[in-house]
Amino acid sequence: QINPAARMTGLPAQFFAALVRKANAQAAKGRDVINLGQGNPDRPTPSHIVEALQEAAPNPLYHKYPPFSGFPFLKEAAARRYKEDYGVELDPEKEVAILFGGKTGLIEISQCLLNPGDVCLVPDPGYPDYWSGVALAGGVMEYMPLKEGNNFLPDYDAVSADAANKAKLMFVNYPNNPTGATAGPEFYAKTVEFAAKHGIVVASDFAYGAIGFDGNAPVSFLQTPGAKEVGVEFYTLSKTYNMAGWRVGFALGNPEVVSLINLIQDHYYCSLFGGIQAAAATALTGPQQCVAELTAAYESRRDALFAAMGEIGWESPKPSGSFFCWLPVPKGHTSISFADHVLEHADVVLAPGAGFGTHGEGYVRLGLLAPEERLQEAIHRIGKLHLFG
Ligand code: PLP
Repeated sequence: QINPAARMTGLPAQFFAALVRKANAQAAKGRDVINLGQGNPDRPTPSHIVEALQEAAPNPLYHKYPPFSGFPFLKEAAARRYKEDYGVELDPEKEVAILFGGKTGLIEISQCLLNPGDVCLVPDPGYPDYWSGVALAGGVMEYMPLKEGNNFLPDYDAVSADAANKAKLMFVNYPNNPTGATAGPEFYAKTVEFAAKHGIVVASDFAYGAIGFDGNAPVSFLQTPGAKEVGVEFYTLSKTYNMAGWRVGFALGNPEVVSLINLIQDHYYCSLFGGIQAAAATALTGPQQCVAELTAAYESRRDALFAAMGEIGWESPKPSGSFFCWLPVPKGHTSISFADHVLEHADVVLAPGAGFGTHGEGYVRLGLLAPEERLQEAIHRIGKLHLFG
């Protein structure tokens, strides 16, 4: 009989594992399933990045242990991208940590900053990895509701004085998963002010930083005056360059937090394979046309999807960033009953909003992760169930 540590019993079950099982079971019946439930980019990594790995892989330098905290050239490449895209100056050695995807850093930051019982402010709905990190650290979550009426931004005035004073860490995430909302400079200015007032470290999750629609490029938290004093931003190549399988991300900003993350990473991983670091540097410093194309592709998918939704009477505001659409469920359904019904009768996988927190109820998340024809087909199939209008 194995007796797990208490921290493991606090770890929530992986909600999306169940979703994948349900989708696979439907596909195993021989059905043509359209999976829009997961956040896995459907297109390949641009070829110049793959070629950079092919060139780098034979280099014996990369066959040994990489330097702890990674190769300086990759940190310099990340700093350069932030300078070019956001006008943000970063010291590559002190203010950039290389991560195994954003995910590891999002979990490690809780371990770096929270003692058991310390409060962390998390968005609700929100990306479930924030909860896992807090649970593993023995922290206590205080949810900040994201409401449609407030453009899915948290209202700091609604956080109780007690929670604000006890909080040591908070997560913000724009462009947002799951709501597709974006945030502007005023929101980040308020965030810095709130965090500085209460001594809270900000973790800004910028996983969808490249994906903003209607001509509005997303704003980085680090562009805000004072941001570096109070927090870090998590940036990843997963979505920007279709490199989810490569596992490359960064924590950038506050040097004390970066140094804590580097310390924990040194113990866990040493660093990424050098060939991947070389290819990641190529992604960051090479031609950026692929990023503009990617954003344009998601925008035209979004518009094709909403045109089809209009035909079946499914009404919703459009997302302004990320590749997710946060859509209301029809009357008489919960998010889970609707997602189950659509999977069973239309062979379309949607993620039920309840999986993202209490305030996710009433919505489903649809990923723009299939070609336009497939997205339209998914909506037309749902239309045949006559649930809208
Ligand atoms: N943050 C958000 C909001 C995400 O949706 C994801 C991935 O889906 C991540 C972070 C982590 O991405 P990765 O670990 O691939 O960098």
